[in-house]
Amino acid sequence: MERQDINQYNDIWVFAEQRQGTLTPVVIELLGEGRKLADVKGKKLNAILVGNNIEHLIPELISYGAETVYVAEGDLLENFTTDAYTKVIVDAVNEIKPEIMLLGATHIGRDLAPRIASRLNTGLTADCTKLEIDEEDGKIKQTRPAFGGNIMATIICPDSRPQMSTVRPGVMDKAKKDTTREGEVVRLDYDLKESDIRTKVLEVVKSAHEKVSLTDANIIVSGGLGLKTADGFKLIEELADKLGGVVGSSRAAVDSGWIDRAHQVGQTGVTVKPNLYIACGISGAIQHLAGMKESDIIVAINSDPDAPIFNVADYGIVGDLYKVIPEIISSIDSIE
Ligand SMILES: Cc1cc2nc3c(=O)[nH]c(=O)nc-3n(C[C@H](O)[C@H](O)[C@H](O)COP(=O)(O)OP(=O)(O)OC[C@H]3O[C@@H](n4cnc5c(N)ncnc54)[C@H](O)[C@@H]3O)c2cc1C
Repeated sequence: MERQDINQYNDIWVFAEQRQGTLTPVVIELLGEGRKLADVKGKKLNAILVGNNIEHLIPELISYGAETVYVAEGDLLENFTTDAYTKVIVDAVNEIKPEIMLLGATHIGRDLAPRIASRLNTGLTADCTKLEIDEEDGKIKQTRPAFGGNIMATIICPDSRPQMSTVRPGVMDKAKKDTTREGEVVRLDYDLKESDIRTKVLEVVKSAHEKVSLTDANIIVSGGLGLKTADGFKLIEELADKLGGVVGSSRAAVDSGWIDRAHQVGQTGVTVKPNLYIACGISGAIQHLAGMKESDIIVAINSDPDAPIFNVADYGIVGDLYKVIPEIISSIDSIE
């Protein structure tokens, strides 16, 4: 195969994933991280937006720091399909030649990125938790947990472009919004026929699963095995409701069948960074901490004073959660 001239490739692209006209939250994180990479490299940060009726997202992307927004819009792009999105994006990449391309490690990103990478014959690192530019050669160093999280692997893509990564939602800092920013809009001409798309979307159904938005929550109240029964989550939910937060859990609680996996925080669950994380009856295993230790304030409620969760907690309460939580709830009631 002919060698690519990698010097022709410039700029950093973020895939602006949207669903029904709403940007997926990870896009704001990708723009935050993309900005840092673009600044180190002295390159531009751009976004590629694909869909239908998505005009309103262009100023939003610019306000979060996209300098150029490449837009492919049309009926055939209304719903995500691997075939259509791959074709449109691959054509754009071949024409414009970005050096780095970031996608969220969402269901859509994880489906799309490998297809694009294999069409382009380039490298892709999935589910990255850290990205940095190598000062010596300007390549991106992509770090991700491997072998069930037992090692962290740093991966580079030396000879092909773009260097592609999917990035785990909730890990990177969000871009700051500034509505005074200005940017350029480039409409992509694309060549797509209905017969290019082998899947038909009959209906888009929002499942209960998606409604748990742990990554967006400012407050999370999580329960673990210390609850002893599935019913314990009613108490966790009551406290979360009082605080306007959402319910999280440890993996052990999920494995016990007490709560849906969508609530799981940790290395193999969701990574969260809320303002307040309350861990109730969670021991603080390393795999749990990996998903929540960056929270602004951590409160731990645990009957064991030696539980490792207290090592990361800003405030710790040693006691039986079935006594402590009702007291917290009643003191919130008395303030109200
Ligand atoms: C590859 C791999 C990936 C993993 N990924 C994840 C992950 O993503 N997320 C995750 O959470 N785990 C993950 N785990 C599992 C992890 O190692 C722990 O087993 C799990 O986090 C423990 O959950 P827990 O804290 O709820 O339970 P336990 O460790 O059993 O802790 C229960 C805690 O409750 C306390 N307690 C008991 N009774 C009370 C009471 N009445 N009041 C107050 N406190 C009480 C106990 O003192 C104890 O500290 C992973 C493991 C592996 C090997």
